[in-house]
Amino acid sequence: SGWSDTWTWIDGTWHEGNPPIMGPRTHASWLGSSVFDGARFFEGVMPDIDLHCKRVNDSAQALGINPTMRTGEMAELTREGCAKFKSDQQIYIKPMYWAENDGVGVIAADPQSTRFCLCLFDAPMAAKDASVSITLSPFRRPTMETMPVNAKAGCLYPNNARAMLEARNRGFDNAVVRDMLGNVAELTSANIFMAKEGKVHTPAPNGTFLNGITRQRVIRLLSSAGYEVFERTMGYDEFLEADEIFSTGNYNKVTPVKRIEDRDLQPGPIAARARELYWEFSHA
Ligand code: PMP
Repeated sequence: SGWSDTWTWIDGTWHEGNPPIMGPRTHASWLGSSVFDGARFFEGVMPDIDLHCKRVNDSAQALGINPTMRTGEMAELTREGCAKFKSDQQIYIKPMYWAENDGVGVIAADPQSTRFCLCLFDAPMAAKDASVSITLSPFRRPTMETMPVNAKAGCLYPNNARAMLEARNRGFDNAVVRDMLGNVAELTSANIFMAKEGKVHTPAPNGTFLNGITRQRVIRLLSSAGYEVFERTMGYDEFLEADEIFSTGNYNKVTPVKRIEDRDLQPGPIAARARELYWEFSHA
């Protein structure tokens, strides 16, 4: 089938592979009313799975889509689905909601016509020693007034994709995206941190970027381990002069930056410690 590494739960049944879920009159395929979340199963653990299940419900609500699954039920279903894979596989967990019934205007004819699916697939995480290069993107994050930034909604991602493409075309792995005021927001699918003189700094959530679950977890872990962590407004120039830069996100957890523009950086001790603390927390 080409999708033998995938299991999808929809309408009460598990399907092996990638079943068609939307039609040409589905509201989401037409007008973009879909939300999703991303979480991980690896080494027998699913860190913060309850928070990811809660977030997809909150994202649905932010778009006026009625979330039909209880978070505990969704987490349980995830556990059931992950058991279909080999225990050494690293699984990406993608719950999704979308509005089904189309209407004549922009809103779904029946906002209660929610559909849900849970898609699980094999997606190896980056190696422990992986690191990335980053560059400043010419593109910006939208504000709350221009896009539903409080939701993890599919409609936000074409902007992230063009930022990523533009960076890739210039030979970088990822892009630093700023908000409309010019302050650093995040990478294209991960949050950003830097360390300077032993202290950790990261942009404060200001409604323009995702306050990642991994971000919040890493802040708590580093703080408990005795590091000072400052959440504040940050300019790109501060990152250019950082001792260390690293990103956080569910996909690869903690990833050090090895180059910013034309400046090489050493993957440093704080990023390594953050990763180690994350693994200890996940496996506790
Ligand atoms: N920002 C964006 C735009 C993302 O897509 C992600 C991945 N969900 C993140 C940040 C990191 O968030 P989390 O730690 O919750 O995965």
